[in-house]
Order: sequence, then C-alpha cells, then structure tokens
Amino acid sequence: MSQDWSRFVVEKMTKKNTLMFLVLVLALGCAVLFAPLTSAQDPLPPTDSSSSPTPTPTARVIDKPELHQALLDLTNSWTVMCVAAHPDDEDGTTLTILRRKHGIHTVSLFSTYGEGGQNAVGPELYEELGVIRARETIEAAKIQGSEPYFLGLRDFGFSKSAEETFRVWGHDEALRRMVLKIRELRPDVIITNHDTSRGHGHHQATGRLILEAFDAAADPKRFPEQLQRLAVWQPSRLFVRVGAPGGGATPAAGTANTGNIVTIDPNERDPIRGTIYAEQALLAPPAVLNTFLEGLSLPDAVRDRLAPPTIESRPLTEFIEEPDRILIALIGWRRGQRSSTTVPSDQSHRLALITERGNRALSLASGVVLTLKAHNSLLVPGNPARFTASLANTGERTVRINRLSFLGWGARAPLDVADQLVADTETSNTVDQVTPATAVPTVPPAQHLYDGRLFGEQFVADADLEIDGAWFSLRSETRLDIAPAVEIKEISPSLYVFTPGIVNRPLALKIKLANNLDRPFRGTLKLSAPKYHIFEVGSEVILGPNETRELTIKSNAIPVESAANRRRPRDSFGQFLLSVEPDGSSQPITQRFLQVVYAESRVVRNLKVGYIPSFDKTLEQSLAALGVDAKAVSIEQVQKGELANYDTVIIDNRGYYAHPDLIAANSNLLSYVRAGGTLIVFYHKTEEWNPDPAKGRPQLAPFPIILGNERVTQETAPVTFLEPEHQLLNFPNRITRSDFDRWIQERGLYFPKEWDPKYQALLETADEGEPPLKSGLLAAKYGRGYYIYTSLVWYRQLGAGVPGAYRAFANMISYGHPKKKGSTRIP
Ligand SMILES: [Zn+2]
Repeated sequence: MSQDWSRFVVEKMTKKNTLMFLVLVLALGCAVLFAPLTSAQDPLPPTDSSSSPTPTPTARVIDKPELHQALLDLTNSWTVMCVAAHPDDEDGTTLTILRRKHGIHTVSLFSTYGEGGQNAVGPELYEELGVIRARETIEAAKIQGSEPYFLGLRDFGFSKSAEETFRVWGHDEALRRMVLKIRELRPDVIITNHDTSRGHGHHQATGRLILEAFDAAADPKRFPEQLQRLAVWQPSRLFVRVGAPGGGATPAAGTANTGNIVTIDPNERDPIRGTIYAEQALLAPPAVLNTFLEGLSLPDAVRDRLAPPTIESRPLTEFIEEPDRILIALIGWRRGQRSSTTVPSDQSHRLALITERGNRALSLASGVVLTLKAHNSLLVPGNPARFTASLANTGERTVRINRLSFLGWGARAPLDVADQLVADTETSNTVDQVTPATAVPTVPPAQHLYDGRLFGEQFVADADLEIDGAWFSLRSETRLDIAPAVEIKEISPSLYVFTPGIVNRPLALKIKLANNLDRPFRGTLKLSAPKYHIFEVGSEVILGPNETRELTIKSNAIPVESAANRRRPRDSFGQFLLSVEPDGSSQPITQRFLQVVYAESRVVRNLKVGYIPSFDKTLEQSLAALGVDAKAVSIEQVQKGELANYDTVIIDNRGYYAHPDLIAANSNLLSYVRAGGTLIVFYHKTEEWNPDPAKGRPQLAPFPIILGNERVTQETAPVTFLEPEHQLLNFPNRITRSDFDRWIQERGLYFPKEWDPKYQALLETADEGEPPLKSGLLAAKYGRGYYIYTSLVWYRQLGAGVPGAYRAFANMISYGHPKKKGSTRIP
C-alpha cells in the first residue's frame, strides 16, 4: 500500500529521555463501570453481619496532587498513544508532561515485553526477564500517569532488519494486534520514536506497523472480524520523532516536515507537586515539544456535553485549597449531566473517559473510598478464597449506596451492605468463593507471558453511589495468581545437561516446593524418565501450612546406552517428569517437565577450572554438566594472585563490567597465563573493554584487541572454519559445522574490529548479505600459556543445552592441557 507521508505531521524533538524504570495497563477501561447488570445473581449471604455502618478508623486526608490531577483530567478528553517496540523505548517525558500538565489521556503500546535483552542485574532471561520488565513497565507507567498495553510479540533479541522481525512476528498478525488496540483505545494522536528504516529491526518493524495500522484501523475491509464489537477508528495525527536514538538527525526519506512544530518545555515546574515535570519522568536532557493536539477540535455538541465543571467560570484546579467548593461544583456538574443528551457513537469513548474521570474526582473530593481486599495471596483450585469489599466515607456528607457488587469468575453478585453512609463511617461485606476446581494455574508467570494471563485472575468490586443527588460509581480491583495446592516452584538445574564426564554418577535435582494451603501436606515427589531407565524415584514430602522448602531428589546413574540412545551416537534430547502426589492418591496434584540433553562432549582428565561468574549460574552448571572439577574464583583471589592451582580460568561475559576491581588486578591474570595457565574471556561490550585512560582502563588482553559494534544476530548464520586443523577445533572434541546447529538468539556480539596478528582467528560468520566477521574466536600463545577471547554468545547456548556449544566449550577449557595424566600441573 502506498504511504503518503505528507499527511503526517512530523514532529521534531530532541534527545530521548532515559527512563530508568520501564512502563502498561491492565486493560480495564470504563466500560465495566457502566456495564448493565445482565447477570445479576442473588445477593451473596454476608459472612459477617456488617451491613450496619461502623465508624471509620481513619480521619480524612485530601491528597492534593491526586485531586489536582483528577480535576485537570476533567478538562481533557483527548487520547495520545505512544507506540514502542520495547519497554524503555517509549517517550516517558512526553507522556508525563501530556498527562501531568494537560490532563491528556495517555497510553503506551509496546510490541514486546523486552524479554530478548541482556540482564546485567540478575540471572533471568527470556520469558522470566519479560515478566520482570512487564512489571517494571507497569511501575514506570504509574509515574508517567499513562496506561501501558502490550501486543505480546516475541522479543527474540537484536535484529538488524524489519524483514527478519516480521518473519518471527508474522506481519499480518502483528498488524492485526496493533489495529485492534487502536480500535479499542481510539487515540487521537499517535507518537513514536521509531521510523521505518533505522536501528533495531524491532524498531523498524514497529515503525512500519504504525504507518499501516494508522490507515488500516479506519478501513472496514481490514480485520472485519474485529468490527463485531468495535468500530473503525481513524487517528487524527501521527508523529514520528526525528533524530531519535537509533535513527538519524533528519526525517526519513519521503517524509515531509510540515513545519508544524509545537513545543513542550520539560523543565517547566509542576506547580502542584513542586517538582519539575522532567524530574517526574526521571530524565535529564532538556527537550522541546508541545501538545500534539493544537488545532484539533471537537464537534460543538460534544464539546458542550463534555464541558468541565467550573467555579465562577474558572477551572476547579484554581480552587485546590477549597475542597468543599470543589465538591459542590462537582455535584452540580454531575447532576446536570444526568439529563443531558448522549454523544454520537464515534465520540462515546470521550464521554466514558470523562465520566470515569468524574467518578475519580468525586471520590477524591467527597472522601468516599472503595477498596477490595483479598485475604489470600493466591488461589488454589477447589479451595475457598475470601475477599472483603469496604466502602468508607471519610468526608462530611452522607452518601447513598444504591448498589455494591462483586465480580469474580465472570459472574456479578450484589453485596448486602448499608443503604447509606453518614460522615466518618464505613461498611463492608466479605465474600467467600470457592475457586473452581477446573481453574487453570497462572504460575509460573513466565509461562503466561503470551497467553494474556500474566497478571492472574481479576476480581472487582464496584459501587453505584449518590451524594446530594449526584450519582457516581467507584471500582476497585485486585488480581491473584492461580496455583496448584502444592507447587513445583523451581527445579535446579532448570535444564539437565549431562555428558560422558558424569554419565556414571548419580544425578541429584534440587526442587523447591511450596504448599499453598493453610493445612499441612503429606505426599510424594516423583521423578520418572523411562527413556533414561529412571522408573519412578520417589521422595517423601512433608510440608507445613504455606511452607516452602527445597528438597533434593536423587536417582541412580543413567546407563550409558540409554544416555547415548544407540541410534544417535552423539547427542540425545528428552525430558524428566516431576510430579507431586498426595498420600493415598496416585492422582498428581502438579507436574512439571524438565528438559534433558545428553551432549557427547569430552574434557581432558583431571582438569582444574576456576571461573569468575558475572550475572548467572551458567558457567557453574555447564562445568558441572561436563563433570569438571571447577570452583568460583573470587576477585580477592585474583588480587592476591592465587590462581596457580587452576589449569584454566574463565572470565564470564561482561566480567570486567560486573567486577570493576578486576581491571586493576588484570596483571595477575596475565601473569597467570605467562606462567602456563589458559585464560578464556567471554564477550564484553565495546565501552566496557576498549582501553580508556580517562577511566583508568588499559588494554586488558596480552596483545591488543579493540572491540567494535558488529554483531551476528541470525542464530543460523553460516560459520566457516578458517583454521580447521587448529587444536581448539579438534581436541578433545572434533568440532564440525553441525556444532553450530540449534543455536539460539544470535551468534555473537561486539566482535573485535582490530586484533594483534599474534592471535589466530579460527572462525568466520556473517549475517545474510553482510561482510564476514573473523574475530568471533581468537586464540594466542602468551608466555607458557594461552589466551582466548571469544565474542560468540556461549552463555546463551550453554544455558539452552546446545550440544555443539558444550563440545566447543570443553575444547576451550582443555586448550593447552593435552593428554594430561595424574595430578594437577603446577605452572
Ligand atoms: Zn528498543
């Protein structure tokens, strides 16, 4: 389809903020508030007789910033949507200012959860990282005052092109999801930092989707199935940031800058909070832009219908010190709305927004608060859960309660409470509900990143209230995970890799079990894997109420013939089944599979390996899978030069960043190599490695290595052997091309752009259509020892159980120690 750029206003902004926290919303919206009571059931019997009001324990405190925001929100029914590929790509500053200064309804839409990124603060990767980033994004959105939404497309790591991205996402499916969100949320303006041709492939793809979705959302021929419950929607404007990170300083080819440049000053002071808007968004650089809505207008009838309340023709925000006058004005405004005519259906969302915002303002100004409290921390199928809905009147006027109801498991039930609340009283009702035995668990959350159940099951209390003849509604929600009675919370290792080095040893798995019930549990934890000749190894489980405990389950050694699976002499793949059964039943309460990989990878005998881990346990677990005598090396040991006991030392990826003290102690690492040790250094980022006198960082390698920013992002990119006879590629395991099969995410990052000729470059690889990179695996003799620098992402492959990676890794740690016999070598 043709894109007519000239009809978009291209917005010029300065540098993007760096929001430290990430940003979403639980899709709720106001519709529920006004949903007709189509499925009203009989009132639930109150389990405590609290239908007569009781005095409130707390006095009224008006939250002035909150009230100010609520009043400001009444003046604006426009929606601005910021679309971003990953959490952190959104324009947090702009979103903050639009909401905090102008009361604009702001939403963010993220293509992914950002789960393909690196994690420099913890071991979580992939879906587990996605869960963390989704939660951070929700917290950041609270600070911005925006609502986050996710398209749930997979973040498969760095990508160089939109084409590769669409191969994973599916272009039509991605577009369908974005169009759906535009039709649901009806943004007047869409803003984005992503253009269509520069930077990360996910950014380019998102930029292209926005252009298409902008038109498609308004086209009844596109995704017509969505139109059964939604209408088409045409956003008025699209702004693409010029000079965004990952972009350039000029508009993309074909874009036209209409010169319609409006500005917002993020250094402006928020008069209510006494802080600077930009501080609220946690950002530094002064940026310039302005409300994107200038020149847009509503039809007269709609504008009249949505006219905000005033006092003496002045906005209510000017009366923040006189809450009683504000409340009177709000009551009058809401009473006047009751008989008003409705608005056209293509504007109905504005009425719903302003109505919801009016409810919020009336709640804050009147001091009437609805809360829904869950007494359980999670739900167990077949077991009761308790909720309490409380309405408190901390204000001075009497409030009529026309209805209070509870919504759970898709059914609404009226709650029996007092008819009215005089000043300083509250009423509550407790609901006991048995969680359906068929309820499907939502834990672990990492398994629910893409199925819409990431945030658990939703429960809602809502109330229809009246104060001096003005009606308003309140809503309070809570979300709970659904978990089995006894839950397998963690299995360690999370993937069981074994090799000839440990095939004759008994295996031990650590299992963390949680009893989610308020009563003790007795039963059995069972492990079975017929393929590996393991037939129901059991371990007794006794757990106290709500107790979490780690157990170890042991099994005999796996016989070699089942490990090697005869037909495939090299590697094999399978799984163990773990299950928990209660005493007196053979029906498992819960089950989990553990993926199992046998890799035919051998290491020279009696090797002693030291490793310096960075962020996770990959090295520890991989060395254990190889059956190697390995110990974590502390920075202090390096500082003291206590490395002589190790044949090989490994510095994990980004080790000099994770342990800055390693830089000053680096000469001890190099001395260790000169004395005959083998040192392996996994990939580093350019700015963490290259010599920088200002930061006191010398060249860290024995012969110069200068990193660049080149990556090979296609995990299937061909790999060519430059030195096929080199020992590293042949001993103890012969490495072949097939050892580069089954790789995940990418080949390598920050490949060296310059390296001393004393290094041998062993491999060559490249993304499609790009020049080959030869520096993924560099090795040099130094003194009596060996130095290896490798920018291939071994930690991801080892963590994923790629057999070829175990063979190459075994060769690296064996390098320089051929056919060693007997005791440890002393340098
Ligand atoms: Zn991004």
